[in-house]
Amino acid sequence: MNIDTAMVEKLVQRVLGELSATGSATAQPGSTAVSDGIFTDMNAAVSAAAKGQKDYLNCTMADRRRFVAAIRAIVTKPENLQIMAERAVEETGMGNARDKYIKNKYAAELTPGVEDLETGAWSGDDGLTTVEYSAFGIIGAICPTTNPTETLICNTIGMLAAGNSVVFSPHPRAKGVSVWLVQLINSALAAEGAPANLVVTVGEPSIASTQAMMEHPAVRMLVVTGGPGIVDLVLKSGKKAIGAGAGNPPVVVDATANLEKAARDIVSGSSFDNNLPCIAEKEVLVVDSVADTLILHMKKSGAYEVRDAETVAKLVAQLITPKGGLAADWVGKSAVAILAGLGIQAPADTRLVIVQTDKDHPFVQHELMMPVLPIVRVKDVDEAIDLAVVLEHGYRHTACMHSQDVSKLTKMARMIQTTIFVKNGPSYAGIGIGGEGYCSFTIAGPTGEGITSARSFARRRRCVLVGDLNVR
Ligand code: NAD
Repeated sequence: MNIDTAMVEKLVQRVLGELSATGSATAQPGSTAVSDGIFTDMNAAVSAAAKGQKDYLNCTMADRRRFVAAIRAIVTKPENLQIMAERAVEETGMGNARDKYIKNKYAAELTPGVEDLETGAWSGDDGLTTVEYSAFGIIGAICPTTNPTETLICNTIGMLAAGNSVVFSPHPRAKGVSVWLVQLINSALAAEGAPANLVVTVGEPSIASTQAMMEHPAVRMLVVTGGPGIVDLVLKSGKKAIGAGAGNPPVVVDATANLEKAARDIVSGSSFDNNLPCIAEKEVLVVDSVADTLILHMKKSGAYEVRDAETVAKLVAQLITPKGGLAADWVGKSAVAILAGLGIQAPADTRLVIVQTDKDHPFVQHELMMPVLPIVRVKDVDEAIDLAVVLEHGYRHTACMHSQDVSKLTKMARMIQTTIFVKNGPSYAGIGIGGEGYCSFTIAGPTGEGITSARSFARRRRCVLVGDLNVR
């Protein structure tokens, strides 16, 4: 076949046109155009995700399984886990790489895939009816600074397993690592022959780009993982929305608890990723008769107690602004750094700062997201449970309890009404890290989906065949 210069020119122009429509897409041998999922403009990102989702309808369930497996495989490569953890800490200035490595690994390995989409059926004289979890369409997902990559991983797996495409709005303070991860995921999907642009974002996320995503008519569902402000905004959007909001998890310790283990678990949970996880223990309510023993064991497990009134006042001035908010620069910093800010040189293995306070103290009332844990003494377990309910502020998020008394454990579970209730373990057991069950970093208390998974991102659709296919 003869191809003349004019035709070559025309082909080049067409390919260039396709490339510019797919952000920073790059041509690869053996394929037409491969997108890395990164766009300069939110509208272009949504349009590409819309095309991606349409193409995805032609894929089989086996394809979806392969795509999810490929995402798990690429994310869990040790070098990628390491880059992700270090870059997130570097860029956000929060948390620690060791724990972020673990969080990302669990998100990639333990987020449910296609198997989460169980089909329901009725059969009888009138035929066969099935109810299947079907794609919602294009999902707009807003991610927090505190778990930027963890959220992106678990949302991607769950949303793609359910047949959707996803447009991410990362926090601007975590854009570098989020863009890197979207590119990484796209490279794995492309290698498996997945439709282009199932997972997209913009190179420069901002409040304006998130607004544009929320308002775009092609985006069918919004999933927000963040603080109360953005959760409220998304719930007012008029779209189907999943809200995973703030928490202030109390941990109750009663006189029957194994105090040595309770102390170890509380220090581990509360110091995990420098207390950034929304599920991490944020205040201890301990029965007075066992408080001293608990504190002694906490100190043996890596906690440093700040006791004298003057130093406690300095700590409050350091971490709480004059207007009563959090001093943002200290969110997610290490216990050693926070103590150094007070002029205290603590041992390098110090993981948590503990302070005895009353129930009205700002450390107790606020979701600190710092490895600083207030301890409040109460007269008995019933007072502890009542107070825990108040301090959880109705978020319905997470609570923990250390006790051997089954009736009190049951009482607290009933009264507090949280999405996650961990008994006799560290808080992170509630998302499958050392506890039974799957993992997710999008815990939807306000809208009730709970610990989200593929089925949370799907629609239930009924198919009815009248008269036939009943073999009973
Ligand atoms: P944040 O609310 O400041 O930001 C969350 C996301 O919303 C970011 O992407 C941010 O850019 C965006 N955003 C915030 N305000 C916006 C606005 N007006 N318009 C458009 N976009 C906006 O929260 P954060 O500091 O990143 O994360 C910490 C908070 O998230 C804590 O309260 C924590 O408890 C909560 N969180 C909840 C869960 C959960 O599963 N329930 C998980 C992680 C974090």
